[in-house]
Amino acid sequence: MRTVYFDHAATTAVDPRVFAEMEPYFVERYGNPSEIHRLGRETREAVEQARAKVAAALGATDKEIVFTGGGTESDNMALIGYLRRFETGHLIISAIEHPAVMETARFLLREGWDVTFADVDRHGMVDVDAYAAAFRDDTRLASVMFANNVVGTVQPIKELARIAHERGAAFHTDAVQAVGALPVDVGELGVDLLSLSGHKLYGPKGIGAIFIKRGIRMAPLIHGGGHERRLRSGTENVPGIVGLGAALELAAAELPTQRPRQEALRDRLAAGILDTIDHTVYLGHPTERLPGNVCVSVRYIEGESMVLQLDGKGIAVSSGSACASGSLEPSHVILGMGFGAEEAHGSVRLTLGRENTDADVEYFLEVFPPIVARLRDMSPLYVKR
Ligand code: PLP
Repeated sequence: MRTVYFDHAATTAVDPRVFAEMEPYFVERYGNPSEIHRLGRETREAVEQARAKVAAALGATDKEIVFTGGGTESDNMALIGYLRRFETGHLIISAIEHPAVMETARFLLREGWDVTFADVDRHGMVDVDAYAAAFRDDTRLASVMFANNVVGTVQPIKELARIAHERGAAFHTDAVQAVGALPVDVGELGVDLLSLSGHKLYGPKGIGAIFIKRGIRMAPLIHGGGHERRLRSGTENVPGIVGLGAALELAAAELPTQRPRQEALRDRLAAGILDTIDHTVYLGHPTERLPGNVCVSVRYIEGESMVLQLDGKGIAVSSGSACASGSLEPSHVILGMGFGAEEAHGSVRLTLGRENTDADVEYFLEVFPPIVARLRDMSPLYVKR
């Protein structure tokens, strides 16, 4: 059976070119980068070269990059590590953050911090006026994701960061879905903290980084031998770090060709679904969205049923409740955009990537309408018109 992978927002395969760079660091070049012998110096150099590649891809300096164990850890470090400098205060996040930010904010709320969850509109775009009005004298930090992992909406980060600074607060963005897919330059955006993850950009899992702007003081979450500028102790994941550097370098080089290519595939896929299947809603912003994201709600049927039926045809997609780890709760992102539980339950997310082709889109558009028709025939909610 043919296999079509349309779930790049969940994770990506390690690019073979990235893997080739990582491979020597498992068996041959295994030295601890903290040691001064040749094997240690060799891996230290590899770690620092990778740091320079990550910094270059983001327009940062090497000293502003700290390696972490992934996007979730970077987000935890941004919120908890920054707020620990203060005794009390207020945090603003958007209502549609990934659980890595959302649950960290809820944890901080339980710890006595005040948190505002800024509303978004029907397209998943932060309501800039409501966001600006949420700032208080004791607001320490605002955190708004660069691009949403479910509906793909891309936020006006530069403007949101500027507003935070005008109000005397720092600004963090979870750019896990954006880095590699869109140009991300920390200087141009004016952010203080930015999170990214290796496995969303054809690098390995379990490695990420956080950009910490020069002059921003942070408290460590992990204590020990003082690695990574005393912010993240633990012997470095050298193969992962090398892989992250290689993946970012590659992503930056391929972005100018991949972005328009994926946007064209995305638009064909979306139009093909919306034009042929009735009672569908395109979720997310019509133009300000990730190049590879198509998220649709198909009324009267369940997202999970569509995922399983498509899986039977060799197509990997996820439901709109993706990232809630198998949860059947309606997506807080789709509910947060003002849709009901029915739209949330009926959503499917297709996320395209580097290896997808026109033929993949054709195959999907051939297979999907009969699946929807069959599921609707079985649905007590659907009355044929
Ligand atoms: N933030 C966003 C927007 C994501 O999509 C993800 C991954 O699902 C994460 C954070 C978490 O990243 P990681 O899987 O590297 O912990």
